[in-house]
Amino acid sequence: MSDILGHFIQGRSIIPPAARLHPIYNPATGEVIAQVAFATVTEVHDAVTAAQKAFQTWSTVTPLRRARILFRFKELLEKHIETLTQLLTREHGKVLEDAKGEVQRAIELVEFSCGTPYLLKGSYSENVGAHIDSYTVHQPLGVCAGITPFNFPIMISAWMLAPAIACGNTFVLKPSEKDPSCVMLLVKLMQEAGLPDGVLNVIHGDKEAVDALITHPSVVAVSSVGSTPVAEHIYQTAVAQGKRAHTFGGAKNHCVILPDANIQEVADNVLGAAYGAAGERCMALSVAVAVTDAVGDALVNVLKEKITGLKIGPGTEAMDMGPLVTKLHLDRVLGYVQQGVQEGAQLVVDGRHFKSPYSGFFMGACLFDHVKPTMRIYREEIFGPVLVIVRVPDLESAIQLINQHEYGNGVAIFTRDGYAARHFATQIQVGMVGINIPIPVPVAYHIFGGWKRSIFGDVAMHGEENVRFYTRPKTITVRWPREKSTTSSYHMPSS
Ligand code: NAD
Repeated sequence: MSDILGHFIQGRSIIPPAARLHPIYNPATGEVIAQVAFATVTEVHDAVTAAQKAFQTWSTVTPLRRARILFRFKELLEKHIETLTQLLTREHGKVLEDAKGEVQRAIELVEFSCGTPYLLKGSYSENVGAHIDSYTVHQPLGVCAGITPFNFPIMISAWMLAPAIACGNTFVLKPSEKDPSCVMLLVKLMQEAGLPDGVLNVIHGDKEAVDALITHPSVVAVSSVGSTPVAEHIYQTAVAQGKRAHTFGGAKNHCVILPDANIQEVADNVLGAAYGAAGERCMALSVAVAVTDAVGDALVNVLKEKITGLKIGPGTEAMDMGPLVTKLHLDRVLGYVQQGVQEGAQLVVDGRHFKSPYSGFFMGACLFDHVKPTMRIYREEIFGPVLVIVRVPDLESAIQLINQHEYGNGVAIFTRDGYAARHFATQIQVGMVGINIPIPVPVAYHIFGGWKRSIFGDVAMHGEENVRFYTRPKTITVRWPREKSTTSSYHMPSS
């Protein structure tokens, strides 16, 4: 029998005797390598109760002491980077080098959160009235919940838990059921770093656990990342319960290629951004918008040549692209390719019949040309190694096309024309813009967040946004009278 992963509540691993079990696969071999226990309302309640109890003390620990634990956690992440990378590749499938990049991103997020005491600094105004001062402080919220997707199990967990904890909150995390093992190592490292029991708890599960968590009366704030229908459901449910929420959804990231761009360089950029991590990135490039037919023809010629050179295989070997995360997801992506063919798009490179000596969830890279905005392969997020090319006559048509799309996560433009690039960056309705950068993921101290149906809620992630989300301001107005006041005031002061 394979290993069973349990929940992590009050510093202990819990596997309820009659738990519903879910298989965890190694996508490169197709084998079940472990099972994860799914939580019921009972375990969710236990985790929230542990977090609620821990909040009483954790919220009073000085911000500097909290930051010191994060410093130690960062050092432990660095020490265990190889183990985390291996675990990630084993359950997600992404190639080792890419997995290492994800861990490095998580380290940077923790590193930034170590500076939270500075961001928690309040403001003070002297003499807001005669002998009256005012000051504003940022206080923690209470028990916060996070629900994460399969594609960045380490980085996205760090997005949420590092700032939430640094701000003095306690946390219940519900990671993806597809690759939960690295999160269990993260919580062990947090414990080793000195985090008190109950501050960080993990429950595993599906909709049942998520719904119990986001409706629990003691949870005050909810962060989630996942597909748009799930992000919308979590946001609306949490907000309807009076909770603070921000949830991050799916994407369809375009890149515009202007006629003055160097096609060879663009193709190199596009290749990695479209097919890296088998396209399972929320910032993956999934639509190339060729400005003019000449650009479209040139791009297709170079790309189809380069795609045949892609090395596809287990992430543990020197590959460009690994498998998809599950058989179910592979079939879904293959279904989209079939749909594209039926809709009349031109399948220039057909990766459906890729023959792999490995038995995992592999497919080859696919390239569609002459895709129309009405087609499902253009409108919907495929989340696989499928790039579609749409041809437009000019930059304005490209901007209009992108602005009409329901998603607005990331976008890129390739050009040497500074005026055109600046005009594009100003006009485009997308949250993260790259100019000659194919995947413009902001660093930890710049804001991360899409627009339109790629986000629900007003506060994004990263940087000072984290402190805005995970604290609430309180303004205190103070007078220390020298002698007793003898008059009552029935009017607002007018001077
Ligand atoms: P998903 O929506 O299937 O699952 C996300 C999380 O929600 C998981 O923990 C899952 O267990 C839970 N969940 C699934 N169905 C649910 C339901 N009906 N009710 C409540 N909870 C539910 O997403 P995924 O396949 O794990 O991840 C890929 C998706 O995440 C893609 O759409 C990708 O674009 C998106 N994503 C977005 C960003 C971003 O920053 N916008 C970042 C990474 C991933």
